[in-house]
Amino acid sequence: MKALDELTFDNRFARLGDAFSTHVLPEPLDEPRLVVASKAAMALLDLDPAVAQTPVFAELFGGHKLWAEAEPRAMVYSGHQFGGYTPQLGDGRGLLLGEVYNEAGEHWDLHLKGAGMTPYSRMGDGRAVLRSSIREFLASEALHALGIPTSRALCVIGSSTPVWREKQERGAMVLRLAHSHIRFGHFEYFYYTKKPEQQAELAEHVLNLHYPECREQPEPYLAMFREIVERNAEMIAKWQAYGFCHGVMNTDNMSILGITFDFGPFAFLDDFDAHFICNHSDHEGRYSFSNQVPIGQWNLSALAQALTPFISVDALKEALGLYLPLYQAHYLDLMRRRLGLTTAEDDDQKLVERLLKLMQNSGVDYTLFFRRLGDEPAALAVTRLRDDFVDMAGFDTWAEQYKARVARDGDYTQEQRRERMHAVNPLYILRNYLAQNAIAAAESGDYSEVRRLHEVLTRPFEEQAGMEQYAQRPPDWGKHLEISCSS
Ligand code: AMP
Ligand code: MG
Repeated sequence: MKALDELTFDNRFARLGDAFSTHVLPEPLDEPRLVVASKAAMALLDLDPAVAQTPVFAELFGGHKLWAEAEPRAMVYSGHQFGGYTPQLGDGRGLLLGEVYNEAGEHWDLHLKGAGMTPYSRMGDGRAVLRSSIREFLASEALHALGIPTSRALCVIGSSTPVWREKQERGAMVLRLAHSHIRFGHFEYFYYTKKPEQQAELAEHVLNLHYPECREQPEPYLAMFREIVERNAEMIAKWQAYGFCHGVMNTDNMSILGITFDFGPFAFLDDFDAHFICNHSDHEGRYSFSNQVPIGQWNLSALAQALTPFISVDALKEALGLYLPLYQAHYLDLMRRRLGLTTAEDDDQKLVERLLKLMQNSGVDYTLFFRRLGDEPAALAVTRLRDDFVDMAGFDTWAEQYKARVARDGDYTQEQRRERMHAVNPLYILRNYLAQNAIAAAESGDYSEVRRLHEVLTRPFEEQAGMEQYAQRPPDWGKHLEISCSS
C-alpha cells in the first residue's frame, strides 16, 4: 500500500512533445472536498484507501497541488461530432496529469476532468459541474462491476466554485483512470491536418505501448486495427446486452483501447426501448440505443480513413467486415447467458428478438425481467412475469418456446440455474433516477447517498441486505429525465 507521495510516474505521452499536447497547470477549485472515492480504483494505483480522507487528497485532485513528477498536459485531437468533422477539439477542460505505474507494472493515465481552461477550451469555461462529475464517477465504476470495459474513476472532488450552466452550479473534478486517453480523434487530427510524421509517431506509440503483441504479426498496424475492431464489437455487444446507452458516440469520445469513454448524457434503459434516445440534444436519434451498433462501425470506418497512410484500403475494409459478425456473436452469447442457456441453437437469435419485441410493446423493465427469470424454475418464472406483458397471448407463445428450449438445454437444478443466471443478470443498475437522487443530496452538501449508491453498484449481481430500494423500477418522475450535454 502506498501513500499519495509514493506514486511512480513515467509520462510517456508527454514525451511525445508539443505537437501532441500542451503544458497547462490545473486551475484550483475553491474549498475542495472529497465527495466520493473508489477503493477499487485506488487499489489500481496501490493506494491505501485511508488516504482519500486526508486533506491533501482533496487538494491534489481539486487542482491545488501537484506531484513533482506530474507533467500536466492538454491533448490535442479532433473528431466527427454527430457525423460532421470538427477540425480541432482537444482537452478543453481536462488534463492528463501523468502516467503512473503500479506494482503489477500496469500504467494508468491520471486525467483530471474539470481542471480549467486550456488552449482547446473554445467557448467553454474549462469546468465540470458536480452533477456530471458524479454521473461519470458512478457510471465508470458501475460499468466496470458489470464486466463492461471502461475508463475508471478514482474520486470526485466538490467545491464552492460557481459554474454557470442553465443555472448556477458548483464546480467539481473527477479523476479518471485509463491505460490510455488516446481517442479515434487523435488519429483523425494528424491525418486531416496532414502531419504524416506525427501521425506515424502516434501510431508507433499506440502499437508499442498498447498493442505490443501485434508487433509479431506480418502487418502490425493492420493487426492493431483488427484488434481495435474486435474490442469495439465486444464492448458494444455488452452495452446492448445490458441496456447501456452512451449518448454521444462522436469519434473523439471513442477510445483506441475499446473501452467506454467520456460519459455525458448516458443512461441505462429502465423499460426496454430499442429506440431510446438518452441525449435530449440528439434530435435525430443518431445515437439512439439500437443505432449504437451501426454507429460503432461508422466510427471504426472514420478511424480506418485516418489509417489509410499505413494500411491498404482493401485490408481496412476486410477488417471492418469483422465488426458485425463479431458483434452478433458476442451479443448472442451474452443474451443466451442472460436467458440461462448453456448451449447454442440456430433459433436462439429469434428467441431473443421475439422477447425484446414483446418487452418493447409492454414497456417491461429490462433489468428486472432477466433477474426474475432466474429467481425460479423457468415454468414458474414465466407464469409470474406474464402479468407485466400487455400482449399476454404473445408472451405465452414465447414462454412455451422458451420452456421447450430450456428443457433441451440440459439437466440442471434450479440452484445451479439461479446461480448461473444471477451471475450475469444484475439486480442493481445505475438508473437515471437513482443518480438523480444522489446528485440532489450531494448538491445540498450530503454525500452519503452518492457513496451508498456507489457501494451498491460495485456488487450489482449480489443481493444486498437493506438495499431493496435500489432494485426498484423508477417512480413516474424518474422515467423520462432529460439529460443534456451541458455538463
Ligand atoms: P464532450 O461533449 O464532453 O465530449 O466535449 C467535446 C469537446 O468540448 C471536447 O473537446 C471537450 O474538451 C470540450 N468541452 C466540453 N465542455 C467544456 C467546457 N466546459 N469547457 C471547455 N471545453 C469543454
Ligand atoms: Mg469528449
